[in-house]
Amino acid sequence: MSRASITVENVSKHYETDSGVQHALSGVDLSIEDGEFVSIVGPSGCGKTTLLRLIAGLESPTSGRILVNGEMVTGPGPDRGLVFQAATLYPWRTVAENVRFALEVDDTSSAAADRRVQTLLQMVGLTDRAAAYPDELSGGMAKRVGIARALAPDPEILLLDEPFSDLDVATRESLQADLLSLWRDLGKTVVLVTHTVGEAVRLSDRVLVIQGQPGQVGTDLDVDIDRPRDPQTDSFKPYVNAIRRTIRADARTDQPTTQPVHTDHP
Ligand code: ADP
Ligand code: MG
Repeated sequence: MSRASITVENVSKHYETDSGVQHALSGVDLSIEDGEFVSIVGPSGCGKTTLLRLIAGLESPTSGRILVNGEMVTGPGPDRGLVFQAATLYPWRTVAENVRFALEVDDTSSAAADRRVQTLLQMVGLTDRAAAYPDELSGGMAKRVGIARALAPDPEILLLDEPFSDLDVATRESLQADLLSLWRDLGKTVVLVTHTVGEAVRLSDRVLVIQGQPGQVGTDLDVDIDRPRDPQTDSFKPYVNAIRRTIRADARTDQPTTQPVHTDHP
């Protein structure tokens, strides 16, 4: 039996808009194993968010199919937790209440729910901010609440869409390290969309580059470096350079109207 946790089979996605059909993805095939940490990179507009939303079940493919643990995805489910770039916390709920709300339990006053919220806040290092409101949090803290909330139903798969892109370098690095520990400790399957190539190489087992317009998986690269990984080492840079070259080569073949490629430093 395959250990594939996520299988995307020949998936294409078009959007009907007022100005015509927008082709986001074309013939995407990929397979992600149970417990793998996979990053998805590629130029803006290549379909990364679309791919993640399809796996999440927030959109359906125009053609092809997506399986999670062998079951066809027909909508969102508690087996997949989502973290978006914008934290979208309820401003009138405390940190603990925001996380508790995501438990989706009928009896939200139960002691078991309380304990679960405490455990989740501990996992993301926010125990002492449980009673704070979102407008009292730093960007990094809000992001941690978003991660705790995504982990609340104990999903097997964590899907993250550029979760750290609006944070300063120090906060971003500390959250990257925390995400890595959570992945290792909890044994989740992680799919991280990022436009920072260094982040993908630092964290993942495998990096998928979405290429072309509409996008498909162009490059599939195993990152064979021991963790923790140091971007300053000789083994690290060749990966970053190889991925950047692929993205740049792809961007050169794009239409002139395409947005610039992000090539942030690691
Ligand atoms: P990325 O996340 O890689 O920047 P997206 O998945 O957001 O790319 O978008 C891929 C393409 O699909 C883009 O051309 C975008 O304009 C288009 N697209 C995405 N979502 C929609 C939508 N809801 N309606 C119409 N077009 C969309
Ligand atoms: Mg996107």
